Amino acid sequence: MSSHSLVIVAMILAAVSFVGAGEDDFQASRSAVTIELEICDRSELEQLTRLVSIDDVRGHEVRATATPRQLEGLRAAGWSWQVLPAATHAAEPEMCNQGWVDDIDRSWTCYPSYQQYEALLHKFAVDHPSLCRLVDLGPSANLVHPHRLWALIVSDRPGEEENEPEVLLTSSMHGDETTGFILMLRLIDHLVRGYGGGSEVTALVDETEIWINPLANPDGTYFGGNGTLAGAIRSYTTSGGEDSEVDPNRNFPGFIGDEHPDGNPWWPETETMMLLAETETFVLSANFHGGVEVVNYPWDTVGRRHPDDLWFQTLSQDWADLAQADSPPGYMTNVNNSGITNGWDWYEIDGGRQDFMTFFHGGREVTIEISETKLLPSDELDELWSWNRRALLDFIAHAQQGIRGVVSDRDGEPLAATIEVVGVDREEDGSMARTDPDIGDFHRLLLPGLYDLRIEASGYHSREIQGIAVIDGEATVVDVVLYPSLVRRPSRRVTPNPVKTTTK
Ligand SMILES: [Zn+2]
Repeated sequence: MSSHSLVIVAMILAAVSFVGAGEDDFQASRSAVTIELEICDRSELEQLTRLVSIDDVRGHEVRATATPRQLEGLRAAGWSWQVLPAATHAAEPEMCNQGWVDDIDRSWTCYPSYQQYEALLHKFAVDHPSLCRLVDLGPSANLVHPHRLWALIVSDRPGEEENEPEVLLTSSMHGDETTGFILMLRLIDHLVRGYGGGSEVTALVDETEIWINPLANPDGTYFGGNGTLAGAIRSYTTSGGEDSEVDPNRNFPGFIGDEHPDGNPWWPETETMMLLAETETFVLSANFHGGVEVVNYPWDTVGRRHPDDLWFQTLSQDWADLAQADSPPGYMTNVNNSGITNGWDWYEIDGGRQDFMTFFHGGREVTIEISETKLLPSDELDELWSWNRRALLDFIAHAQQGIRGVVSDRDGEPLAATIEVVGVDREEDGSMARTDPDIGDFHRLLLPGLYDLRIEASGYHSREIQGIAVIDGEATVVDVVLYPSLVRRPSRRVTPNPVKTTTK
């Protein structure tokens, strides 16, 4: 059946039998509902992804979250659907007790209140000033119940710019997908308490600038009040504290020429993240969600593969393999048994954060769907941590493999430069690495192999360095000096062997 005839059939069905159910549910619920609908052909996903927030696609079955307004649009487009019963929780999410923040052996099987969350971040920064710096990224949209976006930097000199890769972990932009929120807090605790002990944690903290933003949509998570997660919602809120029905993971700029793919202005939380991506130079990032269990890698927006497709597959598979090894059979096998998927192959989304970070900032971001249940019962949080602890640490360590170095001018001043892997990187994918202009350092994450680099900076002669070897688990250091292009020189100089190449 063609998609055209499907729409007609769907319209007839809607008129005959389904509209009643849809209507009732629409009127009964003023908040988002989970719906299930059927497609005949994957090409219909292109329209569907613009109408509702797709959560999962398996064969021809689509599960999505839809707000009342989106249901209206769906109806207008002739779709029929079924509303799934709201997830029933055995008990309300258990909140942490009063002394939780100050208890060094605090339980990780409870959810903090908003105040406890903020207090805990401050406590990490106060208790471990040599390892943590708390960064206030800015206010959320809600002016009635104001919240803030926070990031905690964990590093050996957290206040200083260093020649280190910057890695960003951020969770719960969908406010009701809260497992990652707790995992992020627990990861901070694990890093600061483990520092100086086990060599793995110490090396990660010494050699990486780890940014952790546990809660990217606090208005959504604490929609039901600062003392509960019971009313958590997916969307951002309005300044008046109402459900905005704006999906945070559709609110970023799409690819070039599509600044507002969702038709909404950028929300303050989105702009905050855009600014952070602009001011920092993240080389690797992960964005935690829930509802499914799979690691999703770029692109979500288009079907063509990222130039680093194999690298992305390896990164994602490493996570899934470790998580599967450390958990009972069945975990991280939702979308397919491997536990990983290309975003487009699963379902298209436009305006997602993963593609924004990867496309506009030369970063490498994946979307990690960490638990099948969005708002996980508190007593299951501990196992989710143990299933993903090794994968989390291993993920951060991926920032240490490839080619790294410092690009400077002949006086040793750091330069803003782009680093192209010749024959791999493509302009249309924005995949070139960039230096952090403060230090001039770059970190081009790569699989083992032989690579040629082209280094370019405005006003300087570009330079090509050939035959750089990358060894498994290590970073090859290539420091580069560029000369001003005012003097007449050939525009491209090829150096057969790197001037200075060492393996770290
Ligand atoms: Zn999500």
